[in-house]
Amino acid sequence: CGIVGYIGQQDAKEILLRGLEKLEYRGYDSAGIAVLNKEGVHVFKEKGRIADLRQIVDLSVEAPLGIGHTRWATHGAPSRVNAHPHQSASGRFTLVHNGVIENYAILKRDYLQDVELKSDTDTEVIVQLVEKFVNSGLNVEEAFRKTLTLLKGSYAIALIDAEDRDVIYVAKNKSPLLVGIGNGFNVVASDAMAMLQVTNQYVELMDKEMVIVTRETITIKKLDGEIVERSPYTAELDA
Ligand code: GLU
Repeated sequence: CGIVGYIGQQDAKEILLRGLEKLEYRGYDSAGIAVLNKEGVHVFKEKGRIADLRQIVDLSVEAPLGIGHTRWATHGAPSRVNAHPHQSASGRFTLVHNGVIENYAILKRDYLQDVELKSDTDTEVIVQLVEKFVNSGLNVEEAFRKTLTLLKGSYAIALIDAEDRDVIYVAKNKSPLLVGIGNGFNVVASDAMAMLQVTNQYVELMDKEMVIVTRETITIKKLDGEIVERSPYTAELDA
């Protein structure tokens, strides 16, 4: 299972699909991508191979940012509905997640009684919580950080906001995740291998850190909001 993300000037679809193909060795049962452009968010997901996902991706949709996922189901059977990305009730937020949210049932009971969940995954509560906290008055970064502080378990997460085409939010705890640095673009990946096609400069993330990724910048923060400075390293791998 794995995660990829791209925010830049080029069309995201092929970069994401190629990245997911590089992560196929990790094993998975379904895959999906979401891309965001002026028309909104476009989600393509399917049970089965990346080759099956390619069949359903609309090649006419061009978008300068997006996120992708290969799923190894832990909660909810492998199916199109349970495949990631998952979306919030209004469709504003779209998210991919690797790992296990151990307290998802408690979070659902405590915060999401009035939300009808669309999937059987532990993951969906994350994206629904972000929307819930935004609706209660927090800005997106605050809502994301508040959500992360409530999660128990492991996660690598990438989140996009249909109302902001200039940012991907990511976070990590006990699941691998890296940010890759480009010139006029940045990427996210579980493994540097996935994005060697576009960059060999990576920044490592520590557990319980989140990152605000734009085309030109990456800002790493702890969950209390404190900014963390960290330099990139060069990945010495063959693409
Ligand atoms: N627990 C999540 C699910 O079952 C994520 C699994 C994964 O890491 O791919 O959908």
